[in-house]
Amino acid sequence: MRIFVSEQKSEIPAIEIERNIKCNFCLNENKKLFHHYFHQGFNEKLYYCRNCISQNINSKLFIHHYEPPQNIEQIKIDLPFKLTEQQRNASQFIKEQITLQKSCLLYAVTGAGKTEMILEGIVKVRGEGGNVAVVSPRTDVVKELSLRLSMYLKTENISTLYAGHSEMTQPYLIISTIHQLMYFTSHFDLIIVDEIDAFPAQHDPRLMKLLERALTPKGIFVYLSATPPKNIIRACKGNIVYLPLRHHKRPLPIPQFKYLSHGSVRKKLDYMLRNVETGEIILIFFHDIRLMEQTFHSLNKNIQTKTVCVYSGDDERHEKIEAIRNASYQFVFTTTILERGFTMHGLSVWVMNSHLFRSDSLIQIAGRVDRKGDERNGEVIFFHDGISLSMIAAVRDIRQMNKRGAHVS
Ligand SMILES: [Zn+2]
Repeated sequence: MRIFVSEQKSEIPAIEIERNIKCNFCLNENKKLFHHYFHQGFNEKLYYCRNCISQNINSKLFIHHYEPPQNIEQIKIDLPFKLTEQQRNASQFIKEQITLQKSCLLYAVTGAGKTEMILEGIVKVRGEGGNVAVVSPRTDVVKELSLRLSMYLKTENISTLYAGHSEMTQPYLIISTIHQLMYFTSHFDLIIVDEIDAFPAQHDPRLMKLLERALTPKGIFVYLSATPPKNIIRACKGNIVYLPLRHHKRPLPIPQFKYLSHGSVRKKLDYMLRNVETGEIILIFFHDIRLMEQTFHSLNKNIQTKTVCVYSGDDERHEKIEAIRNASYQFVFTTTILERGFTMHGLSVWVMNSHLFRSDSLIQIAGRVDRKGDERNGEVIFFHDGISLSMIAAVRDIRQMNKRGAHVS
């Protein structure tokens, strides 16, 4: 059912204030995220949910439900290439889980081509008149998914929703951020969640609740991840399919560990960059923007002209990323913004202070390397000031995926 809000009375107030305060629209229960003031006209206190400020959700409003008529659509798939054997198996697995009504996890290496494996599942559910949502916590992932799915699925009926772009043309097949699910309750028979582990799902308990609310009682989740969080692995126990191989079937590159004390990053990096012999592009990850900028400013001028800094709050990040893709720079100083979703041929990655990164970040970063091309390219180096457990866990997980991959044709 669709959720909408109006002043007309219903059993569900938009904001519950009786015992604990709660927003019934976005499911926010964090007291700090509410605001109230005395409204002279109503002669009472008016509460606002700060999460829903753009929807203007306040305590004078009520939640209503609307059941759209069922819609069946036979969608054709148009893929310009053939699925690999492991992709065909995964696709078949998803269809079986839909029939069995069991949620599942696709534990796929970075660069395994996850989008292609979800197509048949989507087509099956829509062909039976069920509703489908493909969601991710991150807007850039949503845009990328929308582009690809619109290319492969021959249908005009896809709504793509994210903050600032939330016009819903139809409610049957949507691609959106998890946040946008606040417009639905018990609506989707299949919710495919890409990169559940990406910020901010882990830090925002609301997102899991929005997912649960949007699913029908018989519906299932299909989680796609290269670094799934433990709670998802536990929830899908016995229902996990591994995709350990990339298209080119080469194993994932194993990170090398090199000692570099925290205090000497600035000095040593300049020296190391001056001595890079090949013209390869190197992504250099920093845990902290300040250190990144200080290091950039202490670079030799000649090296500086070959280097760009890009981080998530950077207004010019889109232009810069485009320039990086066009190989305008040899060295890219970056934070976690390029940790996921950035693909380019012939990259190497260096991680400064790798002992300060989480293991899932390290796996994603290492996963940028050797994704494309006919032969092995690029290397992964973790520069550390003392090897951490996260570094060891990252290498262990990468080796384990490679071991699984060795048994797949
Ligand atoms: Zn709210």
